[in-house]
Amino acid sequence: MTTVEGGCLCRRVRFRIDGEPLASVACHCRDCQYLSGGAEANIVAYPRAAFRLLSGAETIYRSPADSGAVVWRSFCPHCGTPLFAGNDKTPDFIAVKVGTLDDPGGFRRMGHIWTDSAPPWHLMEPDLPTAGKNPEFL
Ligand SMILES: [Zn+2]
Repeated sequence: MTTVEGGCLCRRVRFRIDGEPLASVACHCRDCQYLSGGAEANIVAYPRAAFRLLSGAETIYRSPADSGAVVWRSFCPHCGTPLFAGNDKTPDFIAVKVGTLDDPGGFRRMGHIWTDSAPPWHLMEPDLPTAGKNPEFL
């Protein structure tokens, strides 16, 4: 079993994941652009049961997505680091923002999603699958 740990910039929030990732993608949707500061959101999805919050607390913001689902995204209320995201229709999964991982260097994207919303300057590997909106390759 793989264990990864991470947290926010001010280190109040710390978490640990014991399990294998289910998917790793870059999401280019307009909502993620706000929450990333402009770039795509790079995330790793894990089973919710593999995730454990060790310290700190997250503030959650919910918004309706174009898919019809309600998407929640969380951040550290002290330093503003984007932390986790999820979807009210799939509560068994949690998406972790790659920037929160203690070692983000091992991250490999398996594809790009919501590319219809990407501005022309978002970079994408040409050999990876893309989905204009919700992916079929996951
Ligand atoms: Zn923080």
